[in-house]
Amino acid sequence: MKLLIHGGFFSESDQSTETKLLKQSALEHIIRTSWNYLQTHSALETAAYAVGQLEDDPLFNAGTGSQIQSDGTVRMSAALMDGSNQMMTGVINIENVRNPILVAQSIMNEKLDDRILSGAGANDFAREAGYGYYNPKTPQREMEYLDKKKSLGRGTVGCVVLDHEGKLAAGTSTGGKGFEIPGRVSDSATVAGNYANQHAAVSCTGVGEDIVSNATAVKIVTRVTDGNSVEQAVERTFRELEQFNGFAGAIVLDSTGKHYYKDSHPKMVFACFDGDALEIFS
Ligand code: ASP
Repeated sequence: MKLLIHGGFFSESDQSTETKLLKQSALEHIIRTSWNYLQTHSALETAAYAVGQLEDDPLFNAGTGSQIQSDGTVRMSAALMDGSNQMMTGVINIENVRNPILVAQSIMNEKLDDRILSGAGANDFAREAGYGYYNPKTPQREMEYLDKKKSLGRGTVGCVVLDHEGKLAAGTSTGGKGFEIPGRVSDSATVAGNYANQHAAVSCTGVGEDIVSNATAVKIVTRVTDGNSVEQAVERTFRELEQFNGFAGAIVLDSTGKHYYKDSHPKMVFACFDGDALEIFS
């Protein structure tokens, strides 16, 4: 069993050592809690659980503390993918819920034919499924919005998990880039930003447009499926990203428990735990 989580990229405003330490200790706490959860739950359940914990921490740009779009509204996106049957569910630009990843999990549990819901449809589904009204705005994000510090927004959270049955899952959740045009679609609830099959699972962060242009997550998973190591698959995919100076990071786990991560700009925060060794990078 193994678990990796990421907390996206540091924003330009979050460069202080204090924030870095806070993010590291948040990641450590969440990965340990999620590890305990994994002892009695599947990879899929654990991916949703871990991403839900990350969404609840206002330090990260997902759920509570999500970036604010150009019209002053928070719209969030999240996806969950079960590697064992390649079922992916997600929400795009959902508003006023606490945990977008749990809404994606409800779509999965209800086995809906329609698996990725956006905008009003996602909001309506969430209300009908019992998710109450919740305002994810925090004073920090409000201040950034009011200051129009457009470049501050890279974040997102994600998780890839291998469970005791050898099943893989991936989950990703984002508040977006910040200041985007309402209606802009993030990579996080697409196969470019979140993908898993029986061989590998990937969660990405960075500039959604670059991640989609490079088909990042699905390409890495396909390369591992075709026999490449996680390292080869990631390195090749990131070389392709470099061709247009793309900005992305990814955490990757394969079915044998090998993991790898890469960021095109060295600021991504992530943690990896297998019950023994804890790695925390930023
Ligand atoms: N990928 C996210 C988006 O473009 C943002 C991020 O990862 O920071 O919406």
